[in-house]
Amino acid sequence: MSEIVEVAVVGAGMFGSAAARHLSRSGARVLVIGPAEPEDGASASRHAFGAHFDEARITRRLGWDEVWGTLDSRSQERFREIETESGVDFFHECGSLVLMARSIGHRTDGILRQCAAEGIAVERRTEDELCAEFPDLGRLPMVGGVEGLLEREQAGYLNPRRLVSAQLELARRSGAGLLRAAVTSIRKDAAAGLWRLRAEGDDGTREIVAERVLIATGAFSNHNGVLPGGTQLALRAFTEPNLLFEVAPDRLDSLRRLPTVVTVDPEDTGDDNMSLYLLPPIRYPDGRWYMRIGPGMQPIVQELCSVDAMVAWYRDQQITPAQEAFLTTMADLLVPGLKAESVRSAACIIEKTPSKYPYIGHPDEDETLTVAIGGNGHGARGSDEIGRLAAGEVLGLPWDCPVPRDVFTPLAASHHPQEADGSRPDFLKPPFGLC
Ligand SMILES: Cc1cc2nc3c(=O)[nH]c(=O)nc-3n(C[C@H](O)[C@H](O)[C@H](O)COP(=O)(O)OP(=O)(O)OC[C@H]3O[C@@H](n4cnc5c(N)ncnc54)[C@H](O)[C@@H]3O)c2cc1C
Repeated sequence: MSEIVEVAVVGAGMFGSAAARHLSRSGARVLVIGPAEPEDGASASRHAFGAHFDEARITRRLGWDEVWGTLDSRSQERFREIETESGVDFFHECGSLVLMARSIGHRTDGILRQCAAEGIAVERRTEDELCAEFPDLGRLPMVGGVEGLLEREQAGYLNPRRLVSAQLELARRSGAGLLRAAVTSIRKDAAAGLWRLRAEGDDGTREIVAERVLIATGAFSNHNGVLPGGTQLALRAFTEPNLLFEVAPDRLDSLRRLPTVVTVDPEDTGDDNMSLYLLPPIRYPDGRWYMRIGPGMQPIVQELCSVDAMVAWYRDQQITPAQEAFLTTMADLLVPGLKAESVRSAACIIEKTPSKYPYIGHPDEDETLTVAIGGNGHGARGSDEIGRLAAGEVLGLPWDCPVPRDVFTPLAASHHPQEADGSRPDFLKPPFGLC
């Protein structure tokens, strides 16, 4: 007879690990099921890839809109507490700079109003002021010029590997189990009213029986066999190409004064759009310091339409020449004196929902099945609140968030706008929001 767990959390990534902490704290008997980070990405299975196997994700309280602002600021406010309780450091408070095109000053006004309402300290700075304070920063030639939103405190970057391990450690201390395995199928045993999960790990295949299931398996969720009954969500996967610039020792002190930087260009100019994100020098596991740059959703960011394409993108770690050219040009503009010792690329995947928000809730009328999926390329910093809300949905608790619950309702694939002429739908056009 298989053991029966109260809640099986499928996916030990950013959303799953956060949900596991909140669930186990509420007294639920939780089993988290997810593979460990692959040692060799070239031969890893599709279940093992995730967006959290890196050293840095930008974090701040300021959000692109009220929804993301709420998720991000509520998570961010708990980061220090999670560090202290777990004993795992993951938050680097180097500050955050958002460079907004002046042509969307109304949007900047709105963001600032929201920050004021929530007590988030943000300075609105001219480009000249920013260049004086951060002499390494170049000027982006955006139409109408640029202004900056600078958060000096409670903002910077988090280490996603370490945040996940902190969440899992705290979940473990509250009684959660962790099974290093991939779930290959989930089905409802209607007669017993229980879920049966097939999990494949190094020591073979096991069946897990669970009263409730939370699926938090990220970009591969439509392709990894976990959504029961052939359910497909409105979820599209895209390449997320990065360049890592190795910082020369004599440039390190100066460049380490930079905050994280995100630029917002609202002009629909294809690959000439200047939306991007940049991280200050970060020490990677090879002991070297790198600055990392990534794009917005320019056309060079291609859709991955099959599981084979997604797996190949992760395994090959080869960004395209057009992606490399774009990122090189942008790095030259934004940090003209970088003078990298070496440059390497990294290939990751992000997923997009037509609502632009994560799905947190039940994909159908069965309230024993919940999903937390759809980081939309910036789910790391809001992950703890996304996990908390998902835990509440799993346990059937009253909705406890100023953002209405239906904002996060999972949408079936049939809701995805498809364009006959191959052009991108509005939700994938500039402005792309804040990475
Ligand atoms: C290059 C890059 C830069 C980014 N920058 C930022 C940033 O600056 N700020 C920010 O906030 N966000 C950023 N993000 C986004 C952020 O990393 C994601 O939104 C976040 O990781 C999503 O969390 P998740 O739990 O949904 O998915 P993931 O973190 O990908 O976790 C999914 C987990 O599910 C597991 N899994 C998959 N299939 C199975 C299965 N069948 N059985 C069991 N487990 C399974 C995977 O192994 C993985 O561990 C970035 C993403 C990328 C790729």
